[in-house]
Amino acid sequence: MRCRDVQILDANELETRADAIVERLNAYLDEGKKVFATCSFQTQSMPLLHMISRVDRDIPVYYTNTGFLFPETIRFSEQLGQSLGLNIIPLRPEVTKIRQMDHQGRFLYTSDPDHCCYLNKVQPLEPVLIEYDIWVNGIRADQSEVRAQMSEEEAAPNNCMRYHPMLEWDSRMIHYYRKNHDLPEHPLEAQGYLSIGCEPCTTKFLDDANERNSRWFGMNKTECGLHTTLVEEAS
Ligand code: SF4
Repeated sequence: MRCRDVQILDANELETRADAIVERLNAYLDEGKKVFATCSFQTQSMPLLHMISRVDRDIPVYYTNTGFLFPETIRFSEQLGQSLGLNIIPLRPEVTKIRQMDHQGRFLYTSDPDHCCYLNKVQPLEPVLIEYDIWVNGIRADQSEVRAQMSEEEAAPNNCMRYHPMLEWDSRMIHYYRKNHDLPEHPLEAQGYLSIGCEPCTTKFLDDANERNSRWFGMNKTECGLHTTLVEEAS
């Protein structure tokens, strides 16, 4: 994973970085680009959501309500929609849960989690990419090997462009920005959950080297597909 030589924790430096992101988002809008964001409503999502609220509260913030999310996450998204005045839009899977069983009658997350993620996370977002020019999402290079390979701007399918403004931020910067702006934390974090996705595929904090190791624990899987499948291969 990408390493940094300098830890940037100074509040002014953080604000300068945040201002640059706000400026870039404003520039996209000034150019007439249609912008949307996606969010998983974790504590680490707070700085980017705050910056979006500073730019334009009408920017749609989509999240995939897979049907397997913690109820606390849904409530947290609603709370943030009100407190930051954001335009939050849930996406629903097209395929009903009854059709998401394997031949033994088990949910796909037990036997084919990649396909489960495709049906519940990736497929619902595909039509959204057709409508917009810029997809803003908060992935960070220090979260996984896959994310460490990404650039700040990457092509997405359907002529959409991914913008990753938080790529070079780390968990300490997230923490200090959140504290500086008095932004809330996900309610499950106090119970030891530091990376929170769907309930069946999330465990409590297990590895202080990488919080994302608490996702799909015990499986050979680190990504849901939003940041692998929905990246356009360079031609
Ligand atoms: S995280 Fe788990 S439950 Fe959620 S869509 Fe992926 S495999 Fe299914």
